[in-house]
Amino acid sequence: MAADNNDRLDSDLTGARLDTLAVRAGQYRTMETEHGEPIFTTSSYVFRSAADAAARFSGEEPGNVYSRYTNPTVRTLEERMAALEGAEQAVAMASGMAAILGVCMAFLEAGDHVVVSRSVFGTTTTIFSRYLKRFGVETTFVDLTDMAGWQAAVTEGTAMLFVETPSNPLSEVADLKQLASLAQAKGALLVVDNTFCTPILQRPLELGADIVVYSATKYLDGQGRCMGGLVLGRSEQMKEMVAYLRAAGPTLSPFNAWVILKGLETLRLRMLAHCDTAYQLALWLQDQPKVARVYYSGLSEHPQHALASEQQSGFGGVVSFEVKGGKEEAWRFIDATRMISITANLGDTKTTITHPATTTHGRLSQEERDRAGIRDSLIRVAAGLESLEDLKADLARGLAAV
Ligand SMILES: *Cc1c(COP(=O)(O)O)cnc(C)c1O
Repeated sequence: MAADNNDRLDSDLTGARLDTLAVRAGQYRTMETEHGEPIFTTSSYVFRSAADAAARFSGEEPGNVYSRYTNPTVRTLEERMAALEGAEQAVAMASGMAAILGVCMAFLEAGDHVVVSRSVFGTTTTIFSRYLKRFGVETTFVDLTDMAGWQAAVTEGTAMLFVETPSNPLSEVADLKQLASLAQAKGALLVVDNTFCTPILQRPLELGADIVVYSATKYLDGQGRCMGGLVLGRSEQMKEMVAYLRAAGPTLSPFNAWVILKGLETLRLRMLAHCDTAYQLALWLQDQPKVARVYYSGLSEHPQHALASEQQSGFGGVVSFEVKGGKEEAWRFIDATRMISITANLGDTKTTITHPATTTHGRLSQEERDRAGIRDSLIRVAAGLESLEDLKADLARGLAAV
């Protein structure tokens, strides 16, 4: 609640630009006049009277009732993220998966059909192919870049197109404008997982998407500290999300909301640095004789370089490459590094290295991996914020071991 003694305590953000919104949007100072955003560690709220309680429970009067569905710190994160995304409303969730499942629960029902890009985050595939299937929602998986495939997969019953672009780990890019017109023509929702780009590099709502989802665990926090998720879109749809959150309870903790909120303040600076380091590493890797191929959409050789240049304002922090050889050479490379973290996570200040074929994509069959282009010689690096020269030196140790 805003302090009532002095309006000047709150910033006037009329017409404010992205960098200003990133550090100020969504904050309403309390009567304590704090400068930083407080963490409201409370599960419930008190009412002034029995009548006040009744009015707030029924929704007649605005205000907090219970932290499962509203909390001031979480709301600050939601408002700030909505401001950065240019969305009418944001709803925070406990994790990226909670956000993705939440969108499905809020907008799909038995008998619906969904079309999903095949290269989505592995656990997202599990949500659609195992859990939603049990509740009568059928999914068709299509190649991210194959527009004819998307068109052919859509049926009368298609209620949602779900896409994650750019893909992990090969940075393939889907054409969001074309997917938005396909969705619109069929009366389906276009849902975009924008975790890899963030609103700094890609703005799906402006390209015609209906809903954007995030794993805030990655770049939004950006410092590897906590889990979180977000769903953004029009207020009318977000009402459904809040109703789902209230009923099902995948609530983001106020502490995690505060951590992510602080992450947003440096998001643009960090994304630019991640992109720059990843691009420099991609160029350097391309010149190494033991590297067979580099996958980075910022390279002119990348099959969707032109589309990525048009649709994104940066190419992201993830670079993948194949070493000459197979699994053994890739593992030797990874084990010979001495600084970069061997972990499948990304979107951290610390650079990470992983072998997709035996970790993130390890549960796929050989045939599925071949189809997805995940070779045994493929290594993924998610650029952090360390010195470029130190990163090159560490990767050079890997190369020497191949
Ligand atoms: C990590 C990730 C998710 C899942 O998010 P969690 O916060 O781990 O639940 C979903 N989509 C993408 C693209 C991710 O990278």
